[in-house]
Amino acid sequence: MSSPDDAPATGMSRRQLLRHTAWFGAAVVLTVTGGEVISHLSDHPAAAGPLPADPNTLRFVQISDSHLGFQGTANTHVQASFAEAIDQVNALPDRPDFVMHTGDLTHLATDAQFDQVKQMLGGLHTGQVFTVPGEHDSIDDHGQKYRKRFGAGTRGDGWYSFDLKGVHVIGLVNTLSLEKLGHLGTDQLDFVRRDVAGLSSDTPIVVFSHIPLFAMYPKWGWGTDDAVRALSYLRRFASVTCLNGHVHQLFTKTEGNVTFHSATTTAYPLPKPGQALAPTPVTLPAGQLAGALGIRDVTYVKGQHSLAVRDRTLA
Ligand SMILES: [Zn+2]
Ligand SMILES: [Zn+2]
Repeated sequence: MSSPDDAPATGMSRRQLLRHTAWFGAAVVLTVTGGEVISHLSDHPAAAGPLPADPNTLRFVQISDSHLGFQGTANTHVQASFAEAIDQVNALPDRPDFVMHTGDLTHLATDAQFDQVKQMLGGLHTGQVFTVPGEHDSIDDHGQKYRKRFGAGTRGDGWYSFDLKGVHVIGLVNTLSLEKLGHLGTDQLDFVRRDVAGLSSDTPIVVFSHIPLFAMYPKWGWGTDDAVRALSYLRRFASVTCLNGHVHQLFTKTEGNVTFHSATTTAYPLPKPGQALAPTPVTLPAGQLAGALGIRDVTYVKGQHSLAVRDRTLA
């Protein structure tokens, strides 16, 4: 198990990380019912101002696949779309404890694109920002430019874990040894096994990766060839939630104790599995793009045994 000092970004004290340790098991509330739960928990009159930070509630946001530098008809302004997504995060009624970007930060992994995305992420109003890399972020250098900017405090090729308000969060890298499917590799699998070995089974686990850890559509590479081993180390936990990007569309699936949620993108949609010859950018009719892009906010409430996932479009 890693120490909180291994968290890859600064801004959160060790004391804050360690303050809460006794979460109960948690269940997932899916998107439809999640809206109700969230509105019950966090909707309050805007005039009342933001609520004070709640030590019993973990709130975080997932954004994904910003593809800064992409040029094409599917979205001619990816930078503006990403800026809108950031504005939307900053307008949430409750400031998230952290924001996770699940990869494809850039389209072509150039220095300029990395500098731009890092600068834009700095505009998020949140406790801290975490990332996992997408395959677009390691096109020509096995992720070196990515790790130079986002790898502080990580292990191996950029994986890490941390604890926050009793939830154990793991960030994985499954985009570096691609054949067709995502791949974690022996070193990273060993990390996962040791990382969770000391945790009690009622610790909620949240796992982030770019490529799905479930077989969403292997024909297009939408799966991870050795994810089953990683998940085997998580089988004893009451609540495991895996959040990924890469597929540029919402999808949810539950297998036993694990629920998987694919996120949408802030850049451009991809076809539904099998509904095109290849997973290439989809150009929507005028006016429809913002409805396909979005952000996701997630809430854990201590004692409520629930993890609420809510997806919001940029429309
Ligand atoms: Zn992508
Ligand atoms: Zn990707």
